[in-house]
Amino acid sequence: MLEYAVVGSGIGGSAMAALLGAKGRDVALIEKEPYLGGCSSTFTHRNRRYNTGATTFAGFEEGRKVKQLFDAAGVTPALHVSDPALVVVQKGCLIKRYRDLDAFLDQLEQLHPHPKNRAFWTLIAQINRDFYAMQGYGYSGRSLVSKICSSSSYLPLAWRFSSYITISARAFMERFFGDMSPEYLDFMEAQILIVAQATSDETHFLTAALALGYTFGANHYSIGGMGSLFDTLTCKVPHLHRDTRIEKIKRRYDRFELYAGEERFEAANVVLNTTVYDSAFLFEDESIRRYYERLSKRGNTQSAFMLYATLRSDIALHHHYQIITEQTIPMTRSKALFVSFSDREDRLMSEQGYYSMTASIHTDVLWWQTLDASSYRSFKALLQQHLSELICATLGLEREWFVDLFSATPTTFEHYIGRSQLGGLPMTMRNHLWHIPSNDTPFKGLYHVGDTTYAAQGWPGVSEGALNLMRLLDV
Ligand SMILES: Cc1cc2nc3c(=O)[nH]c(=O)nc-3n(C[C@H](O)[C@H](O)[C@H](O)COP(=O)(O)OP(=O)(O)OC[C@H]3O[C@@H](n4cnc5c(N)ncnc54)[C@H](O)[C@@H]3O)c2cc1C
Repeated sequence: MLEYAVVGSGIGGSAMAALLGAKGRDVALIEKEPYLGGCSSTFTHRNRRYNTGATTFAGFEEGRKVKQLFDAAGVTPALHVSDPALVVVQKGCLIKRYRDLDAFLDQLEQLHPHPKNRAFWTLIAQINRDFYAMQGYGYSGRSLVSKICSSSSYLPLAWRFSSYITISARAFMERFFGDMSPEYLDFMEAQILIVAQATSDETHFLTAALALGYTFGANHYSIGGMGSLFDTLTCKVPHLHRDTRIEKIKRRYDRFELYAGEERFEAANVVLNTTVYDSAFLFEDESIRRYYERLSKRGNTQSAFMLYATLRSDIALHHHYQIITEQTIPMTRSKALFVSFSDREDRLMSEQGYYSMTASIHTDVLWWQTLDASSYRSFKALLQQHLSELICATLGLEREWFVDLFSATPTTFEHYIGRSQLGGLPMTMRNHLWHIPSNDTPFKGLYHVGDTTYAAQGWPGVSEGALNLMRLLDV
C-alpha cells in the first residue's frame, strides 16, 4: 500500500509528489494526460510545442515560496531571467515593466504622467518587499478549532497591512491619485485581473498591490516551455503514472482505494489536485461527497479563451505582452489580451527564426456552454480571427508569418484538463481566509491542493498551498 496517492499533476499535485518524495515517502503521482502540469503544462500539436495556459514564472528567488519548493524537492529548473517581465501596449505606446523602479517609472510617465506616480509605485514595491519577507503563517480548515488557531498566525500580517485589507483597490487608488484617467485605470485593472482574477472594486488593496508589483520581483522564462518545470520537479518522484484517470475513490477504514479503469491503487492518504468544484463525483462516501458539493457552490464561471500559433518573425519579440484595448473584446470579459512568445534562443520550443505563441483572455464558461455546435464553431473562429488580427496590428506582425494558428475555449480545457473554470480562486474582499477551501479536510487522510484551495492561483499561490500542506502533514 502506498503512503500517499496524489491525483493530478498540476502545480499543486506535482509539488506535493516532489516534496513527499524528497522526504522519503512512498508516493505515487497519477495524471490522466500524457503530459504533466495541467493549466501550466506544455503540449505538442502537429510536432510543435505550445504552453497550455500559464507562461510566466514569478517568485523563483531567495525567501520566496516557489524557490523554497524547488529547493526542498532538491532540483533546479532551467531558466532565463525575464526583464522586462511584461510589455504593456496601450494606445500605441509600449510601457516596459522593468524590475527596476526608476526604469519602469520612465516608461510609465510617457503614457500616464501623474505627480503621484513615484509615491504610488514606491508604495507598491515596498508592500511587495514587506509581504514576502513575512513568514511563519499557515492555514488549516479541518475543524473550527484548527481554523481559530491557525488564523492567529496571520495576526502580524493583518497588523502590518490592516489599512490595505479593509479598503477596495479602486477606492484606495481613487483616494491616492485624486484624479485618474480612465486609461490609467484600465492599465491598473488589466494587471490586477491577471493575478487576482478580480477587478479593482472586488479586491482589497493588498492583493492589488501584490498583483501590480509582481514585476518588481524576479521573473523567469522556463527553457523548453512551462512543462519542463514539471519534468524537473517530478524527476525524483518514486511512482509516476501518466495516462491514468482516477474515476472513483472509495474510503475504507484505514485506507483509500483509487480506481482507474482496470488499475487499482491503495493508499493510506490521498492528495487531490482536481478543483474542489469538480471533486464530489469521485467519491461514493456520502459525507465526503457532500463536503465537495458544498465547496462547489463557491465556484465561479471565469475561464479563458486561448490562441496558439507558431510564427516566423525577424522582429525580436519580448517574452510577454499585455495588449489593452479601449472596449471590452466581444465574447470575452476583458479589454486586455495577454500574449507570450518563446525565447528566440529556446530551440526546444521552436526552431531558429520561429516563435511559439500562447495568448489568453478572460471569458465566461456559461457563454460558451449555452451555444449549439454550429454557433460554437463559428464564434470560436470569429474570436480567433479577431484576436490574431489584433496581435498582428499591435505588434507589427504579418498574418502570412503564421505557419500554424488554432484556439481553445473553456470546453477544450474541460476535455483535456478536466475543468472549464480557470484562473483559480478570485481574491476578492468576500474571499476572506475562512471562506477559502483549506489544504486539509475534515476527513482523515484526505487532502487537497491547487488553485481552488489555499492560497489561490499561479505558481506563487499554489506553491504556498503545497508548502502549507507539508507543514500540516508534519512529515
Ligand atoms: C490561461 C491561463 C493563463 C495563466 N497564466 C499564468 C501565468 O502566466 N503564471 C502563473 O503562475 N499562473 C498562471 N495561470 C494560473 C495557473 O496556470 C494555475 O493556477 C495553475 O496551473 C493551477 O494548478 P493546479 O495545481 O490547480 O492544477 P491544474 O492546472 O488544475 O491541474 C490539475 C491536473 O489534474 C489532472 N486531473 C484532473 N482530473 C484527474 C483525474 N480524475 N485523474 C488524474 N488526473 C486528473 C489534470 O489533467 C491536470 O493535469 C494561468 C492560468 C490560465 C488558465
